[in-house]
Amino acid sequence: MMRGLVGALVAGLVTARGRATGSLSPKGQASAFLLGVLATAAGWGFAASLVTFYVAAEALTRWRAEEKARRTIAAVPQTAERNSTQVFANGAFFTAFALYALHHPNPRWRFAALGALAAASADTWATEVGTFLGNAPRSVVTWSVLAPGMSGGISGAGTLASVGGALLVAITGAFTADLRDWRAVAVLTLAGVLGALADSVAGATVQSKRWCDRCREWTERRVHPCGYRTKHRLGMVWLTNDLVNFICTASGAVAAIVLARLFYVPS
Ligand SMILES: [Zn+2]
Repeated sequence: MMRGLVGALVAGLVTARGRATGSLSPKGQASAFLLGVLATAAGWGFAASLVTFYVAAEALTRWRAEEKARRTIAAVPQTAERNSTQVFANGAFFTAFALYALHHPNPRWRFAALGALAAASADTWATEVGTFLGNAPRSVVTWSVLAPGMSGGISGAGTLASVGGALLVAITGAFTADLRDWRAVAVLTLAGVLGALADSVAGATVQSKRWCDRCREWTERRVHPCGYRTKHRLGMVWLTNDLVNFICTASGAVAAIVLARLFYVPS
C-alpha cells in the first residue's frame, strides 16, 4: 500500500516529465504511469530498475536525435513520442513477472522480470547508439547491408551498446532485487543481449517489410518520404516493429530463467 502510493507519486512525476518533453504520447504516459505504479507495488528493487532503465533510455533517445532522424527517415516512421504499444512492449512482461515474484519467492521469477527489462534496455541502447555511431548495419540473418534504422540490422557499435544497456539493468536489478551475486549480473546481462538478438532475428525474418516502387528501397513506412504509398512485400503484414519488441522482452525473460537455472545457485 505504502509502496503503491510512493510509486504513484514517482511514476506521476517521471511520466509527466516524459509527456512535457515529448517522449511520451498521452496514452504512452498513462501506460507508463500504470506500469510504474505496479512495478513499485511489486518491490522497491523493481521500481529502482525500471526508473534506471527509463531515465537512461530517454536520455539516449534524445542524444543526437536530429541526426538520427535524418539517417533513418527513409526506413522507419518518424515519431518522437512513445505510444502505449511501445511502452507495453518494453514494460509489460517485466511488470507481470515482478508482480508474480511478489508472492512466489523462487528467484526464478525475479530473474524473468529483470531479464525482460534488461532486453528492453539492450534493444533501446543498440538502436539509439548504433544508429548514430555504427557503420552500415548488416542483416543479422543474411549479412547484407541494410538502410540505417531498418529492423534486423546489427552493427559493432550497436552490439557493444546492447551489452551496456543490459549491464546497467543487470547491476541495478541484481543489487536491489536481492540477487546480490556477480553470477546474477552475468546471467541478466547475457539474457538482455540474447533478447535484443532475438529482436533482430525476428526483425530480419518475420517482421513486416514494405517496398517503395519509386525509390526501389525497403522501408517500414506506409508512406515513403518521397510521397509514394509503400507496398507490403515480406514478413507478416500485421507484425510491426512495436510488436517485435514483445518478442524481445519475452525472449529476455525466458533466457534469464534458463540461464539462472544453469549458472545461478542461490546461497
Ligand atoms: Zn520512395
